[in-house]
Amino acid sequence: MAKYVYFFGNGIAEGDASQKNLLGGKGAGLAEMSRLGLPVPPGFTITTECCTDYFKSGGVFPPTLKTEVEKAIRNVEASMGLKFGDPDNPLLVSCRSGARRSMPGMMETVLNVGLTTQTIPGMIRKTGNEKFVYDAYRRLIMMYSDVVMEKAEGIEPEEGKAIRTQLEHILEKMKKEKGYSSDTEFSAQDLKVLSELFKKKILDVLGKEFPDDHHAQLWGAIGAVFKSWNGKRAVAYRKIEGIPDDWGTAVNVQTMVFGNMGNTSGTGVGFTRNPATGKNEFYGEWLPNAQGEDVVAGIRTPNPINEATKNEQNAHLPSLEKAMPESYEQLLQIRQILETHFKDMQDIEFTIQENKLYMLQTRVGKRTGLAALNMAMDMLAEGLIDEKTVINRVSPNQLDEMLHPLVDPEAEKTAKVIAKGLPAGPGGAYGQIVFNSMDAVAWKKAGKKVILIREETNPEDVEGMRAAEAILTARGGMTSHAALVARGWGKCCVVGAGALKIDVIEKKVTVDGKIYAEGEVFTLNGSKGLVYEGQLPMIDATENPRLKDFMAIVDKYRTMKVRTNAETAKDALMAKEFGAEGIGLFRTEHMFYGEGSDIPLFLLRKVILSNTRAERLQALEELYPYVKEDVKTTLGIMDGLPVTIRLLDPPLHEFVPKRKETQKKLAEALGIDEKEIIKRSEAIRESNPMMGHRGVRLGITYPEITEMQIRAILEASAELIQEGKRAIPEIMVPVTCDVKELEEIEVIFDQVYDEVVKKFNLERIDCQYGTMIEIPRAAMLSDKMAEVAEFFSYGTNDLTQMFFGFSRDDIGGFMGDYIDKKILVKDPFQTIDFEGVGRLIRESVQKGRATRPNLKIGICGEHGGDADSVKFCYECGFDYVSCSPYRLPIARLAAAQAAIASPASK
Ligand code: PEP
Ligand code: MG
Repeated sequence: MAKYVYFFGNGIAEGDASQKNLLGGKGAGLAEMSRLGLPVPPGFTITTECCTDYFKSGGVFPPTLKTEVEKAIRNVEASMGLKFGDPDNPLLVSCRSGARRSMPGMMETVLNVGLTTQTIPGMIRKTGNEKFVYDAYRRLIMMYSDVVMEKAEGIEPEEGKAIRTQLEHILEKMKKEKGYSSDTEFSAQDLKVLSELFKKKILDVLGKEFPDDHHAQLWGAIGAVFKSWNGKRAVAYRKIEGIPDDWGTAVNVQTMVFGNMGNTSGTGVGFTRNPATGKNEFYGEWLPNAQGEDVVAGIRTPNPINEATKNEQNAHLPSLEKAMPESYEQLLQIRQILETHFKDMQDIEFTIQENKLYMLQTRVGKRTGLAALNMAMDMLAEGLIDEKTVINRVSPNQLDEMLHPLVDPEAEKTAKVIAKGLPAGPGGAYGQIVFNSMDAVAWKKAGKKVILIREETNPEDVEGMRAAEAILTARGGMTSHAALVARGWGKCCVVGAGALKIDVIEKKVTVDGKIYAEGEVFTLNGSKGLVYEGQLPMIDATENPRLKDFMAIVDKYRTMKVRTNAETAKDALMAKEFGAEGIGLFRTEHMFYGEGSDIPLFLLRKVILSNTRAERLQALEELYPYVKEDVKTTLGIMDGLPVTIRLLDPPLHEFVPKRKETQKKLAEALGIDEKEIIKRSEAIRESNPMMGHRGVRLGITYPEITEMQIRAILEASAELIQEGKRAIPEIMVPVTCDVKELEEIEVIFDQVYDEVVKKFNLERIDCQYGTMIEIPRAAMLSDKMAEVAEFFSYGTNDLTQMFFGFSRDDIGGFMGDYIDKKILVKDPFQTIDFEGVGRLIRESVQKGRATRPNLKIGICGEHGGDADSVKFCYECGFDYVSCSPYRLPIARLAAAQAAIASPASK
């Protein structure tokens, strides 16, 4: 029978940190802290397995749970010398969620469970503080009615009619009537009256009594926390983060400690190192005389934890270091213990009750990409972690984030800062301002860049936050839930910019008397917390010397090569900077597009519209020097590194001249009239050019085109060799489906090779002959293809297109629905579809290597720059992946992580 309940407290625990899947992150952290002898209020964790069993049986608790919970409660009671529901000496507990992976603020919590009309007098006697007890009571009523009686029941009230909002109105009304400016001015009697008004309202609105029984409260809360796993925002967050729906959440039931028992109490959140920069400093926020939710809910701008990390926004507020030096000192020691134990930055929550410190949470802290890199490198230097761990501490996405733009500091010098807030998420961004999550999603869909402006950081906005380039709020702190979420995504975010006066109804914001309407452009510096009007220029942040050191470690452990897809000298040079070890795809047709392409394009058109072989040969001769020069430039830059040059592969219609003037010039050049040009153009029109006369098919019907290209490549190489350079061309035949195509072209290759070697008086040219595998038939027949091909390069763009029958240019219309309905997990044009296309590739590699054991294998589709696909390529035994220059660092890191994870490296 499954064990559902795990006790922790008093220096012992039934679970430990390794049981994250079963106990959730919070539960595992609490168990481990107990084992370390840290001051953790005793409690117990109900497992994630219990949650999934609860859902499986249609929302019924497993039969053995009651006995287990009762036993655990007795254990807690014994540890605390208190009794749950006891009129004289009552135990109060909190019920908190805690999934395997942290989902900050996405699920529910109920505090002060166990406070009833029977236990209130005992609590008052014990604390001598009637006001505190009634304050705790009214908080319980509010939270319980909201979480357990409304949300968990699936009630979806109209805007402004939520029970919590209605209770808040009552509270505000009373505050106004009494002339109070803050909640703290309520007397015990006020709070008592308020609690009664709350209970009456709940009965009116929800038709049910607020339960006055400690057991009913506990079970209600446990069930509601389970149900919050399927709450709207949790579901949306999981979808974005790729967290499986069947993991479930644990519930942590823990002795309540109170940070709101006056000025010797408080509560806070801390990071053992700075989560934004990675700096080795204790970083955090706290509030005196408050409960935990007050800090993370982002409603109040919290105080700094110490003097060293004060910022402009909170400098006037007392730090914990100054206000409660003993507790701060103890926290510093705990920080040390936790880092030494977990060997990673921890995100902690604590409460101080009448000068006694309690630890409520520790977990690995979310961080920006920059912080991840800096911490990993620091911890390596400190001897805390080894090089392999360093590599795994930075995710490919975080690396990508570091390669993202910053606001140009030069431009910032002269730009006017209109508001300042806290630097909650990294980098810079600009966009049009919008005022709600739905608009952010819609505008993004319409292709716009948006900045989502909200009053406070609210986890309900998760989808809008995702869609926005950046997030800006008027209230909240660095540790508020949404700031954590944004940082986890590497999203630029500024919170607590108090100067913003936001009007969500009118969709405008006023700053210093100036009104900005929806759609106006702001620029944010999320690393400094600055807001600018208008659009400022951005720069990229790759010049970070630590990034270079980190990448050097990455390359030490990487075994698979990385190449780039590049056609211009500029791209080839940049790719070398980013660590390219060759070019995996040089698309020859690029020279007929864009700048400087006029003459070659004209000559290519002449080739295409030639009617006889003689005409074509004449045109090819004219085109030849341009092709050779183009290839030579890139081979020269890549000196000593392989360059895979693909033979011409454009659909012909792309080059047919449409302008009258060009048609006229071409007619002249070919010695024919314009009507004939139009006729010939018509003749090559295709109804499905993507599957038409392209790639190798062109070379089969017009061998002279192939001949010219191969000669250009080999002569360019020969010239470079004579100039003392090392040219390593690899000639790649595209869009093949049968080995006979390869044989046909190979005859030309062999002949030209012999001629060029002889002409230049060379012993040999280091050149391989191979093919793209981008048609499923070629993949199926890989054993045959490898009889001729010395290398395969998987063209996963076309392979995906043709294997699925999805047009790669037209998936926009349906891919969203496929993902939403979980027909596909991911867009197969971004990440290889491991199940289908991946299986085909894996089998194709095996077949190819069965024929030719040293067959060189690479990938040149877009997937070569996708971290998960790179890992897949490694597992299939690829020699290299090839991707666009900017994706190279990501591919290098993903390849190193795959190598470390492989059994061979263990
Ligand atoms: C491919 O099909 O994956 C490929 C790299 O070729 P292209 O994108 O040029 O069709
Ligand atoms: Mg292709």
